[in-house]
Amino acid sequence: MTNKKTIDFIKSLFPNKDFIPLHEPRFLGNEKKYVADAIDSTFVSSVGAYVNKFEEMMQDLTGAKYAVATVNGTSALHMALVVAGVKQGDEVLSQDLTFIATANAISYIGAKPVFLDIDRKTLGLSADKLEAFLQEYGQKGADGTTNSRTGNRIAACVPMHTYGFPCEIDRIAAICAEWNIPLIEDAAESLGSYYKGIHTGAFGLMGTFSFNGNKTVTAGGGGAIVTDNEELAKFAKHLTTQAKVPHAWEFNHDHIGYNYRMPNLNAALACAQLEQLAAYVENKRELAETYKQFFSEVEGITLCEEGKDAKANYWLNALLLENREERDTFLSETNSNGVMTRPAWTLMHKLPMFENCQHHNIEVSQWVEDRLVNIPSSVRL
Ligand SMILES: *Cc1c(COP(=O)(O)O)cnc(C)c1O
Repeated sequence: MTNKKTIDFIKSLFPNKDFIPLHEPRFLGNEKKYVADAIDSTFVSSVGAYVNKFEEMMQDLTGAKYAVATVNGTSALHMALVVAGVKQGDEVLSQDLTFIATANAISYIGAKPVFLDIDRKTLGLSADKLEAFLQEYGQKGADGTTNSRTGNRIAACVPMHTYGFPCEIDRIAAICAEWNIPLIEDAAESLGSYYKGIHTGAFGLMGTFSFNGNKTVTAGGGGAIVTDNEELAKFAKHLTTQAKVPHAWEFNHDHIGYNYRMPNLNAALACAQLEQLAAYVENKRELAETYKQFFSEVEGITLCEEGKDAKANYWLNALLLENREERDTFLSETNSNGVMTRPAWTLMHKLPMFENCQHHNIEVSQWVEDRLVNIPSSVRL
C-alpha cells in the first residue's frame, strides 16, 4: 500500500474510531438547551425568536446590515439571484469547479450558467479569467453587459469560496463593478473565512451561506442571505414567506412566493452553533497546520493553503496528488481503510444538464479535478 503512512497519521489524529468521516458536526454548547427552549415555546416553525436572533448573529459576524434566514443554502442562492433581477434567458457567470447547488440555483430561474476557470492558488473563480472572458465576449450596453456569443444578458456573477478558501474577491468585485454585473458570493463553504479582514460574502451585492450538516457549523439544514441593501433584504424576506402581504387576517399575496423560511427549531440549533464558530475555526486551523507539517515530508502530495490576504476556515482540507492515477490510488486506499476521502466535484460542464452551457478556458479546473482529494477535517475533540 503506497499511502499507509498517511492513513496511519490521519487515524492517529482522530483516535478510537473505526471509520473517520470527512466532516462530522460537533454539538458542544447550548444546542440542546436552545432546541428544548424552542419546543417549549411552541414556536418550532417559520416564525420565532431564534430566527430573529440567528439573523442578528449573521449580521454581527459578516458585518452586513441585513441577514435573511432561509431553509437551506441552495434556496438562499436561488432567492439572491431572483431579487438581484436574474430572469429566464439570462446568463450567470460562475466557475466550472463548484458544488452542483451553485449551477442548480441558477437553473431554477431558467437562466444559464457560464462556467469559467478557477485560480490555481485560491481554487475559487479566477479574476484573470473573468476579466479575459469579459474582454472577449462582454458587450457593454445601457442595462448592463451582454454575451456577444449568445446575445443574452449577463445578469450576475457568482464566485464560490471553495472549501472555505477565499477567492480574490476584491478584484472580482472591481471587475463586476466595471462591467455593471451584480455580484453574488456563494459563501456556503466559507463561514468564518475572511479576505483582507472582511468576512467572505460581504463583498458583493449579496452573499449566501449554508448550514447543512456537513458544513463548518450546522442548523441541521439552513441557509442565509446577507446584504447591505435594505430593499433587497426586505424583498428576499417577502419572497421566502410566500409573498404574503402583511394583514391581521386577510390572505393576500403579490408575487409567486416560496416557502423558504428557516424553521425556528433549526434556528435554535444554528444560534448555539454560531456561538462556537470562532473556536471551531481555530481548531480547524490547528488541524490544517498539523497536516501541513506532516505533508511537507510526504513526496508527491501537497496540502492546499490559504493565500497571504486570506484567513480560511479550512472547512475541508485539500490535497493535490501528482496525477489522476495517484489520486485514484489514494482514494481507493484511504476509503477501503476506514479513512473517508473524496475527490473534487465533477466539473459542471461535463454533467448532462449543463453540457450545452458555455465553458471557457477551464484548464486549471481540469488540472485540479485530476489531482484534488479532501481529507478528514472535523473539529477535533
Ligand atoms: C453546501 C453548498 C451549497 C448548498 O447548501 P445547502 O444548504 O446544502 O442547500 C451551495 N453551494 C455550495 C458551494 C455548497 O458547498
